[in-house]
Amino acid sequence: MADRIVMLILDGIGDRPVVELHGRTPLEAARTPNLDSLAKKGVNGIMDTIKPGVIPGSDTGHLALLGYDPYEVYTGRGPFEAAGIGMELRPGEVAFRCNFATLKDGKVVDRRAGRIKQGTDELADAIRGMEFDVDFEFIESVEHRAVLLLKDPTLGPYVSDVDPHEEGLPILRSEAVEGDEASQRTAGLINKFAEMSVDVLSEHPVNSKREENGLPPANIILPRGAGSVPDLKPLKELKGINSAAIAGIPLVRGVCELAEMEVIQVEGATGGLDTDIGAIMEAIIDNIDDHDLMLVNIKGPDLPGHDGDHQQKIDFIQRIDGALPILDQIDDTYIAITGDHSTPVTVKNHSGDPLPLTICGEEVRVDDVDSYGERSCAKGGLGRIKGTDLLNVLLDLAKKAEKFGA
Ligand code: ZN
Ligand code: ZN
Repeated sequence: MADRIVMLILDGIGDRPVVELHGRTPLEAARTPNLDSLAKKGVNGIMDTIKPGVIPGSDTGHLALLGYDPYEVYTGRGPFEAAGIGMELRPGEVAFRCNFATLKDGKVVDRRAGRIKQGTDELADAIRGMEFDVDFEFIESVEHRAVLLLKDPTLGPYVSDVDPHEEGLPILRSEAVEGDEASQRTAGLINKFAEMSVDVLSEHPVNSKREENGLPPANIILPRGAGSVPDLKPLKELKGINSAAIAGIPLVRGVCELAEMEVIQVEGATGGLDTDIGAIMEAIIDNIDDHDLMLVNIKGPDLPGHDGDHQQKIDFIQRIDGALPILDQIDDTYIAITGDHSTPVTVKNHSGDPLPLTICGEEVRVDDVDSYGERSCAKGGLGRIKGTDLLNVLLDLAKKAEKFGA
């Protein structure tokens, strides 16, 4: 009988030795009896999500984990963010992530407009009412975030950002980074869009009220992360499998949407440190019967990685560990536990360090590894693999792969 597959992706799990932890990584320092017992029952290794030394984003990382070559399909983050908040995308369209920001005396003084919580729906309405040169869609997301989609087949995605990425600087003029004509058109449009947003938003009642209350007005839209919608072949077509995904953050949901996986919403799965890990585990149990593959992203470990907070990372890893025994209820399943990239607390950003990988299931060649960690897993039977190979390895184990040759 063919088995099923769960890919449990602990976002940003990998780390580096930390002086305060006496040279251990947060994962090594955490008390993880359940992860360790899975490592003991499993075959282990380390994994370069894209390739050694290449620093993955969560988007390119998940593309690789699903077997897509990010170098082939990725032009920018915009389209994944757009798909993740449910925008309908068509190949060729150019998508941007946007911030509502605060412009004062020609300078961006707050890139998040004070993390504006209310009124962005009204501000977005005003933006949507703009008369613009091409068809566009603009949708507000959580807090200061929004997504812009330019719908014109003559546009190219290779443009620089309007967002200066730093406060106290004027906005930048977008340019076509490779000089192609299609992208030059996009750059011109996006410069105009940012300028027009100032006209529309500056006098808006939502902003007048914010200023009265001493809050920074959300008086400009800063687009960045341009990308054209990738024409991903659905996983079903590529691998002949029914797949589903659970992910708290729109970016990862977007990758899964574009691969035409079923995206399951789990109440309480926030993508933050407050996420309900138990509810996520229950959702795996509830949905695994209908799917050959479930990809489950738990965002938590990435956040303290970015903040450089090793204790918070340890605490969150221990919470994940505590929720794992629920998965004992499922059988005939191969479970892979790994990450999409390392987010070392010493780096406060993603890094190219390889990730620990454990695969458990009935017919794995159990090795001598007895704990789940960056260094312990490196001694395991899988050796060092690439993330783009992981799905193939799992499909083979689960007897869902096809023979190459006769
Ligand atoms: Zn990530
Ligand atoms: Zn991150």
